[in-house]
Amino acid sequence: MSLLLKEHLSLKPFNTFGVDVCAQLFAEAHDEAHVREALALAAQRALPLLVIGGGSNLLLTKDVEALVLRMASLGRRILSDDDQRVVVEAEAGEPWHPFVLWTLEQGLVGLENLSLIPGTVGAAPMQNIGAYGVEIKDVFAGLTALDRETGEVRDFALEDCAFGYRDSLFKQQPGRWLILRVRFVLQRHSTLHLDYGPIRQRLEAQGVQAPTALDVSRAVCEIRSEKLPDPARLGNAGSFFKNPLVAAPLAERLRAEHPDLVAYPAANDQVKLAAGWLIERAGWKGFRDGDAGVHARQALVLVNYGQATGSQLLSLARRIQADITTKFGVTLEIEPNVL
Ligand SMILES: Cc1cc2nc3c(=O)[nH]c(=O)nc-3n(C[C@H](O)[C@H](O)[C@H](O)COP(=O)(O)OP(=O)(O)OC[C@H]3O[C@@H](n4cnc5c(N)ncnc54)[C@H](O)[C@@H]3O)c2cc1C
Repeated sequence: MSLLLKEHLSLKPFNTFGVDVCAQLFAEAHDEAHVREALALAAQRALPLLVIGGGSNLLLTKDVEALVLRMASLGRRILSDDDQRVVVEAEAGEPWHPFVLWTLEQGLVGLENLSLIPGTVGAAPMQNIGAYGVEIKDVFAGLTALDRETGEVRDFALEDCAFGYRDSLFKQQPGRWLILRVRFVLQRHSTLHLDYGPIRQRLEAQGVQAPTALDVSRAVCEIRSEKLPDPARLGNAGSFFKNPLVAAPLAERLRAEHPDLVAYPAANDQVKLAAGWLIERAGWKGFRDGDAGVHARQALVLVNYGQATGSQLLSLARRIQADITTKFGVTLEIEPNVL
């Protein structure tokens, strides 16, 4: 079936901030043929093509004069299984958390710490999604992407993807690669990652002696639900700022002034600071200006109380960035893709 086009469609249901902007044209791609049709159509109409998944890492600041293509391709499969290492593959439009649950149902270990992250499989490599001490690069087996410049389909191995903290080749070359499907290498028997955040304490408190991957997933879901606002009730895009990497002398100076500074050693003699701690200490937690605000329980999350525009949310983010620079000499980088 050919692509179903909609004109001047509100993107409010398609971004988790719930920002009400319009797409000039909108379509959903259920397979590669749809993707190619959309690319040809956008070129024909001299419109840019904006690919989206679940819209959970986007801040839309104005109407989108483009063909917005939502990836809706579904399918997941086991590609190989040697009773220890199992390679699974999923289409780009598969919703992330149901995919994680499916791998757990197959008895596979590896994605449990990444439970309940919103969005799609195809967007996960874009910023190398991570949570509770695991990033997808740790379980990544490869992906297939369409080069929008040449129309060729190419396979990427781990070493081709330039994965970093909330970063990848695909993020560094915006608009070039359209991810069609992603592969992960999971294990039948493997060590669980329990030591990041309160996962171990939570399981111990529940009397779980020998946790399974499913137990870890449940614990992660509980912790996340307590900590993060549900976008279905309160518009947000998760963490709005990356945790900044700073030079060790600056971190030392800050620790001398603030003994409770939250900081972790990082590569190249750098130190990673907790952006949420900086924002909270600067007094922004719970701040609200109209319908744009900083979440009352999690200072790293900007929220839309209803009618905030993308520009209002961005202007709040800019005020926070300027204040953090003034107070701590630290630059905060915005995590979601601002359009
Ligand atoms: C409550 C909440 C909690 C979150 N927690 C975390 C977390 O713990 N860790 C974390 O890393 N992130 C987190 N996020 C951010 C977000 O969920 C992830 O970045 C997710 O991978 C985005 O997926 P998406 O499908 O919604 O992407 P979208 O927001 O639709 O798109 C994100 C970017 O990827 C591009 N893109 C999307 N699909 C494709 C594709 N198939 N090919 C090429 N480009 C594509 C888009 O153009 C855009 O630039 C959270 C968000 C929310 C709302």
